[in-house]
Amino acid sequence: MLVSSIVNLAYLIGAIAFVWGLRLLSSPDSARRGNVLAGIGMGIAIIATLSTPLAEGDNNYLWIMVGLLIGGITGWIAAKKIQMTAMPQMVSVFNGLGGACATVLALAELTRFYDGVQVMSTGQLSIALFTLLIGAISFTGSMLAFGKLDGMIKDKHVILPRHGLINLVLLIAVLVMSVWLAIQGSAAGLVLALVFLILALIYGFSFVAPIGGADMPVVISLLNSFTGLSAAAAGLIYGNQIMLVGGILVGAAGTILTVLMCQAMNRSLFNVIVGGFGSASLSGGAGTDGDQVAKVATVNDAAIQMFYANSVMFVPGYGLAVAQAQKTVKELDDLLEANGVDVKYAIHPVAGRMPGHMNVLLAEADVPYPKLLDLDDANAALKDTDTVVIVGANDVVNPAALDDASSPIYGMPVLEVWNAKNIIVLKRSMSAGYAGIQNPLFFHERNRMLFGDAKDSIQKLVTEVKNM
Ligand code: NDP
Repeated sequence: MLVSSIVNLAYLIGAIAFVWGLRLLSSPDSARRGNVLAGIGMGIAIIATLSTPLAEGDNNYLWIMVGLLIGGITGWIAAKKIQMTAMPQMVSVFNGLGGACATVLALAELTRFYDGVQVMSTGQLSIALFTLLIGAISFTGSMLAFGKLDGMIKDKHVILPRHGLINLVLLIAVLVMSVWLAIQGSAAGLVLALVFLILALIYGFSFVAPIGGADMPVVISLLNSFTGLSAAAAGLIYGNQIMLVGGILVGAAGTILTVLMCQAMNRSLFNVIVGGFGSASLSGGAGTDGDQVAKVATVNDAAIQMFYANSVMFVPGYGLAVAQAQKTVKELDDLLEANGVDVKYAIHPVAGRMPGHMNVLLAEADVPYPKLLDLDDANAALKDTDTVVIVGANDVVNPAALDDASSPIYGMPVLEVWNAKNIIVLKRSMSAGYAGIQNPLFFHERNRMLFGDAKDSIQKLVTEVKNM
């Protein structure tokens, strides 16, 4: 009795740590502390769960310890070895494994039920089937998202003709089957439950397959909320409050993020799921676009434009992460500020490869948070900006999103950098960004390309500015 009360108290403390941690994660200044606090909450939750009194002889401590060791060591090595640029992929894998965990838990309970070891009401059975379904979709969907983010899998390789119809049929099949299994109870048998699981796994893969290009942030957030929902449902199966709370928090955060990402892309969720937006395979350009040729700047030209400007706005994109140029950009920012230049950063909500990617990188470089402008504020400020410096961004500054109805990113709000007096684009070539499309900005009369690795180019700009 006393142990149960202590366990419940520990769950409460763990839940408070999760909520507080999430609160601290909302600002880059406190995000690190938030992460640590939420981690401590999870540690407390694990210890409390391990201390939960069980019926005599009904413990699996050996299995649990082996699992903890394998999982802990694998996670530790992966976290140590992972490159910062591969973080989005790692987040997708973690997400998928969360879904897989919930599926395995539900499967274990269902096996006991169909073997007659355990009784389940229709409500409990429905929850277990729901956990199995959502967890499985989240698992295979996240694994495919991992492959796509990593570039191992190209959108065009996984799309079938009439994929929308295939998905609809699969969705109806899994929904009808889940209701039928819930009604049939134990009469359905384990084999049919396994068929249901296989269909759910296939649907997770098939559902993500046609979504690609610029729509990936939405689907990643959605999968995130699915994992949370499956964990919450698994918490219901076991009557475990901390699992329920943790799952609800992840599910709610993922849902809010999905809504925010849809707003950022100016798309409805339905449209993203059935539209196949941004998944069209389009050519990345060479150095020319028809008769147009992109003008090139030298390091000296670019340094002069920045040094003598009243205001400079950096626009970071995925290339900043690849080049790991954030600290060098901050060094340049400090030099310019020392010369009286007003320096700001324009942050597009889907820049990079995961939500908040640019905020994380710039926080790591100690760029003060007030210098970061969101999409609307940046667009308002760009009209009065002397020089905008685009550091490895492409899709998020593509004017085709506003003026080319045939473009796959048409309708997505972008940073209107062409309103600034001068534009400098730092990238290695004329290659396309994630959406795979040409960017007319590169041929704009006020734009100059500074080719090279972003860190390398910024380092040269730092040297040049120091000598002025
Ligand atoms: P993009 O992917 O559009 O473009 C990045 C550019 O960076 C490339 O054109 C590349 O050009 C350049 N680059 C790469 N490496 C370097 C380097 N070392 N130095 C300099 N430049 C480099 O990035 P954006 O941030 O503009 O847009 C993000 C895209 O990713 C959007 O389409 C978004 O929808 C999608 N996405 C976003 C996710 C999110 O959650 N934020 C998740 C999944 C997808 P080059 O090779 O010529 O150097």
